[in-house]
Amino acid sequence: MDSCLFCKIASHELQSNVVTEDDSVIAFHDIHPQAPVHVLICPKKHIPTLNDVTADDAPVLAHMFDVAKKIAEQLGIAQKGYRTAFNVNADGGQVVFHLHLHVIGGRKLGPPAGL
Ligand code: AMP
Ligand code: ZN
Repeated sequence: MDSCLFCKIASHELQSNVVTEDDSVIAFHDIHPQAPVHVLICPKKHIPTLNDVTADDAPVLAHMFDVAKKIAEQLGIAQKGYRTAFNVNADGGQVVFHLHLHVIGGRKLGPPAGL
């Protein structure tokens, strides 16, 4: 996906503030953080939305949650708590159409918008 912002970040064509990275995922600080900790975890494979995930993607999805857990520990928010979220399509507020898991914490969070 030549034009995809997060593919470019995953391939290091575009710079980001990387938290951790391995063969299948990259995690980086959100450029417009909604809280003191706001990290995005992306599969390196281009998957547009959660709707496009298939059974073949189960290992990378599971890995994304494991990475989320470790980042929460590493950044000191695991015990007090945090939120993970996938925004999906227009009503879900998705802006970048490359799957990403938000990890948000470091302050007391209100209810998710719209709930
Ligand atoms: P979403 O609304 O779920 O698609 O979230 C997209 C997120 O990507 C937003 O929180 C943006 O602030 C963030 N974002 C956009 N461009 C960049 C970038 N170049 N580096 C890091 N985060 C970005
Ligand atoms: Zn992409």
